[in-house]
Amino acid sequence: MGYHLATDEQIESVIKKVLKKFRTVNSQNILKKLVEEELNIKKKNFGVTGSRIRKIALNSDFIKLEIHTREGDPKKQMFKCPVCKSDLYKVKNLTIWGGEVTIELNCKKCGYWTGKKKRIPSRYIFHLKEG
Ligand SMILES: [Zn+2]
Repeated sequence: MGYHLATDEQIESVIKKVLKKFRTVNSQNILKKLVEEELNIKKKNFGVTGSRIRKIALNSDFIKLEIHTREGDPKKQMFKCPVCKSDLYKVKNLTIWGGEVTIELNCKKCGYWTGKKKRIPSRYIFHLKEG
């Protein structure tokens, strides 16, 4: 029994096909199911993780990813972007006493950001980019 793994290119083209059909897919899980259904027509025993789909979507030029968040623990330390796992950059402000305070963390790759109140991704919506 062969176990076939799709390449990123194959998954990307399937995501494109799905989005051309639906325009907007309202959650990562739904997109995962649709992509798997599409791939299963040709290959059995195929599985793809949601985070892999998200990563491929972020690297593509035809998807606009909308990130919905819930509030997380303000004390939680964050170093990596929860969306794409890139490093987060600190946006600092000077205090009136001459010190520095981090006011925001942001990701240069996917545009995720969070302030003191942590924004934890809770839902991803995938839109087909227009034009
Ligand atoms: Zn990111």
